[in-house]
Amino acid sequence: MKQPFDQAWADTFRYAAEGSPFYREQFKNQHSVPPLQKVPTVDKTTLSERNLDFLCVPRDEIVEVVTTSGTTGKPLLWMLTEADVERLAENERLSFDCAGLNAQDTVLLAVGMDRCFMAGLAYWLGLRKVGCGIVRAGASSPALVLEMIERVHPTAIVAVPSFLRLIAEKAAETGVDLISGPVHTAICIGEPVRNRSFCLNPSGFAIDKAWGTRLFSTYGVTEFANSLCECVAGAGGHLHDNQLHIEILDEAGNSLPEGEVGEVTGTTFGVEAMPLIRYRTGDCAALYHSRCKCGRTTLRLGPIIGRKNQKLKFRGTSLFPSTLQAVLEEAEGVENFVIVARSDSDLSDSIEVLVHGGASAAALRELLQARSKVSPNIRHASPAEIEALQMPPQARKRRTFVDLR
Ligand SMILES: [Zn+2]
Repeated sequence: MKQPFDQAWADTFRYAAEGSPFYREQFKNQHSVPPLQKVPTVDKTTLSERNLDFLCVPRDEIVEVVTTSGTTGKPLLWMLTEADVERLAENERLSFDCAGLNAQDTVLLAVGMDRCFMAGLAYWLGLRKVGCGIVRAGASSPALVLEMIERVHPTAIVAVPSFLRLIAEKAAETGVDLISGPVHTAICIGEPVRNRSFCLNPSGFAIDKAWGTRLFSTYGVTEFANSLCECVAGAGGHLHDNQLHIEILDEAGNSLPEGEVGEVTGTTFGVEAMPLIRYRTGDCAALYHSRCKCGRTTLRLGPIIGRKNQKLKFRGTSLFPSTLQAVLEEAEGVENFVIVARSDSDLSDSIEVLVHGGASAAALRELLQARSKVSPNIRHASPAEIEALQMPPQARKRRTFVDLR
């Protein structure tokens, strides 16, 4: 049964204030339940400084220890009790339900189950609850995925968009036709497949073209043990509001109105091991309140536009690199590019875009001005120079945005 917000918030507050050393300290003079909006936020810096001070239960009640993705800094340790694992499973069941999966489906799970990640475990638990068949092919071999598609005829796949594109490349090489294949649904994790106006971005478009599946974007946060998945309307991920409360905050901590991009900030409900109150994720997106075309009335979270610390200040406006990336990815003839940000002054950053191929620098500047309202410096560069910036020696992931501020 659904709990009203006030009750869920009061339960989380009392439980955290009593059980967690961090919150016990923070709320030591707080004798009644304050309005949620009055409670200070916490960010990843606090979480990493006080990591296990957020733990509310003795260690012998912990059944799963995972780490956060570590996109910024050292990955945090995150712990779950048996009830937390059950909550995680129920969250993913609800998410897969949004994407229309049911017990008749066979789902190829092309996600890693190991390396301390929560995601693979969460999807597996959720799919078990849905009651469908599961093929744990993992995320390391496109050939194995293609083989299992041929032999098992799965109806859906769960994978990172870049891996879906890699599988499609392998399929094209080996003459496998994915379009006429059995997979009709792709659940896309970890990277956006839509832009701010909910249209497919270049990555989503490439997957759509190669696979011919319905795409569902899902956004998960390890620290919340929660994910928000799109329904068939593709208009944002649905929030499961008896497990999580979401606010979108500006830099000063004010709540932003519907449709405005700010920092995704969440408060968990029903978590035993490590509950969180007003945790600022660093991810930026907008929230939508209106009733969805699918009939659900829960809040929807739009595509992640970028990380808060990537936000650029440029001649009086602020923007995310993703805005420029989206234009450059679609610019005719541009084969490769990298955006470099440097610190110019306190008020403005300098942005230089190195491109290979495409129109003249002046024409590309004009295109960026028209589509993103900014015109950074553009310089044509060799593939080697761009490659060196995209993949420095220690990098694990190719990047098209380099932050030197
Ligand atoms: Zn919907």
